[in-house]
Amino acid sequence: MSKFDFDLFVIGAGSGGVRAARIAAGHGARVGICEASRVGGTCVIRGCVPKKLLSYAAHFSEEFEDAAGFGWEVGEARFSWSRLIENKDREIDRLNKVYLGLLSDSGVVLYDGHGKLLDSHRVQVGDDIISAEKILIATGGRPWKPEIPGVEHSITSDEAFHLEALPGKALVVGGGFIACEFAGIFNGLGSEVVQAYRGDQILRGFDQDVRDTVAAEMKKKGIDIRLGVNVTELTRHADGLITAQLDDGSEIQADTVMFATGRVPNVRGLGLLDAGVHAKPGGMIPVNEYSCTNVPNIFAVGDVTNRVNLTPVALMEGHAFADSEFGGSPRPVNHGFIPSAVFSHPPVATVGFSEKDAKIHYGELDIYKSVFKPMKHTLSGRDEKTMMKLVVQKSSGKVVGLHVVGMDAPEIVQGFAVAIKSGLTKQQFDRTTGIHPTAAEELVTMRVPLQG
Ligand code: NDP
Repeated sequence: MSKFDFDLFVIGAGSGGVRAARIAAGHGARVGICEASRVGGTCVIRGCVPKKLLSYAAHFSEEFEDAAGFGWEVGEARFSWSRLIENKDREIDRLNKVYLGLLSDSGVVLYDGHGKLLDSHRVQVGDDIISAEKILIATGGRPWKPEIPGVEHSITSDEAFHLEALPGKALVVGGGFIACEFAGIFNGLGSEVVQAYRGDQILRGFDQDVRDTVAAEMKKKGIDIRLGVNVTELTRHADGLITAQLDDGSEIQADTVMFATGRVPNVRGLGLLDAGVHAKPGGMIPVNEYSCTNVPNIFAVGDVTNRVNLTPVALMEGHAFADSEFGGSPRPVNHGFIPSAVFSHPPVATVGFSEKDAKIHYGELDIYKSVFKPMKHTLSGRDEKTMMKLVVQKSSGKVVGLHVVGMDAPEIVQGFAVAIKSGLTKQQFDRTTGIHPTAAEELVTMRVPLQG
């Protein structure tokens, strides 16, 4: 009989934690898990899932407009924010229950409350002190805002999902995933939107053609993107309006100011020091390729490790950890060629290297690029372009980067990610038959690389 209450105790029931707990239990481990908020974590409760539902809602405004070119007469469209939020909340409740069911069906014992490490084998949750042979930290991250005067008048994505009303005028600060996605959501639903970003183009780190294309398309939709600016102060007036002071001397008035300026690992009150777990300044917990911290029986997966902060990566890390520690099949996590998408309007999806980074890693390249009007817009009349790009290593012919901006980009790139991850060459792309008429066929029919 083990001297511990559990073989594994997981702190945090988000994507990574729940996956690890379930898989470990499936391998026969006795597993406990605790959650301070709602089971499901950022992705399900206040991230990917509700965001995508809001993004769907925001697309309808253009669908109604586009319908006219196809012979439809659509009456005056009206939008109810409260109905959308109510329906979204119902779906999140359903998913929360699904997650709870997944845990109980696999025999995982759930503790409601914040978990605090007491030492390397004990966790306190409320009045309970629980011991475990192995501990997994899967506490995720939380939004971060710069400490400027008046920042308390602003919101983050956490609150954006529960606003009482759709903003009339929104200022979204940041140029990353969340800022671009919410700029598109608010704009599509009818808010006036300014997006203020400190850099020279939104979506730093993405391929330059992706950044330029998506920014141009977002502007066409009416999003006022201001580059090279920082918000230095917020002042709230008696009528509820907020004035944002920018460091170029300009001011922006808005009823909602949302900071999407990054997320930080959730390690507050976790007792890392008491357990001897090292963390970097800012909270990130360094781990090896088996997700092990500096303490041999304590592991960490997901955003708290700040490796690649995406739900499917946390799932992959949690699964690999459970298989390695409890399934008798140790395997490191492979973080190469992870596809990702930004659900901006239009969306972006990408796998592999940007042209700039590929040059550093792979030397000489062939670049294939196509910018075209999607077939739908020949009749809708909408002035929106799709951009597709392949980055190919000249010496091997390997496709090392694939980028799409435009309708259905995430659905298209998911399939192509298999090819890129498998190291397929441009020649193998060329041998693949296109599906006609689609936009995706462009990725197997581009024949002439860009010159010089
Ligand atoms: P990102 O890291 O993507 O973007 C943060 C943005 O805030 C950047 O534009 C950054 O600028 C800016 N910023 C940072 N600090 C400051 C500051 N002090 N003042 C002004 N601007 C600042 O973070 P997000 O919050 O958008 O998202 C967090 C993570 O969540 C993402 O990295 C992603 O991994 C994940 N995510 C994934 C989604 C998806 O898969 N679709 C959706 C949403 C989130 P700069 O570029 O100059 O550093």
